[in-house]
Amino acid sequence: MNVQILGAHNCESQNSKLISLLIDDILAIDAGGLTSSLSFTAQQKLKAILLTHRHYDHIRDVSTIAMNFAFYRNTINIYSTQSVYDALSTHLLNDKLYPDFLKQPQDKPAVKFTVVEPHKPQSVEGYSILAVPVNHSEITVGYQVTSTDGKTVFYTSDTGPGLADCWQEVSPQLLIIETTLPNKHEQYAKKNGHLTPALLKQELASFRQLKGYLPQVVLVHMSPIMEKEIAAEVDNVASALNVPITLAYEGMQLQISG
Ligand SMILES: [Zn+2]
Ligand SMILES: [Zn+2]
Repeated sequence: MNVQILGAHNCESQNSKLISLLIDDILAIDAGGLTSSLSFTAQQKLKAILLTHRHYDHIRDVSTIAMNFAFYRNTINIYSTQSVYDALSTHLLNDKLYPDFLKQPQDKPAVKFTVVEPHKPQSVEGYSILAVPVNHSEITVGYQVTSTDGKTVFYTSDTGPGLADCWQEVSPQLLIIETTLPNKHEQYAKKNGHLTPALLKQELASFRQLKGYLPQVVLVHMSPIMEKEIAAEVDNVASALNVPITLAYEGMQLQISG
């Protein structure tokens, strides 16, 4: 399994893109930086997009990818919980802000939507997908994706502390987890459902206690303006837990191997 980090951040600039992951070139998770990262050819290889929640930094490129699929007479399969579907169909793909690509083009709509139920594994494009609720300010699920040869990644999406219930449901070899803010913003992070390095440390310790191991850990959704501070604090967490923890960057390639 190859996991590419297309967008690794929560704020966009010339050098940072909004959150998007790409698995084996065909399965995307979140759509903050999809069309801005992929060529038209690469976009047309996409089979499905899993959306974790309805915040704009995670869904923005649904509209732009749908437009491109409409021009290519192709259909993209989008999966999310009911709340994301309701928000997108009401506020974005509604023939007001942008065409309703759930119904257009009439002969072959560009988007086919499927609502996923948390806790129920389902098959998507040959992968086993499990949506697991996390603790964010908006209804949010992380996704565990398992390939046919047993390689497993879990992406938490945006989440605050308190992931013990979530850890019970997943057993990844690669954990992609958010760390949005440095430690000095812990109160803000807790209030808005995000992690700091100190909060991350507690969640990883809880993972190890419950599961008896720690997977490879990669961080996303960093605030670019405070990233140096986050990186220094993450180094301390990695030393204290004695595990490597890597901050993701745009274009990063991760392999899950035997
Ligand atoms: Zn969010
Ligand atoms: Zn976000």
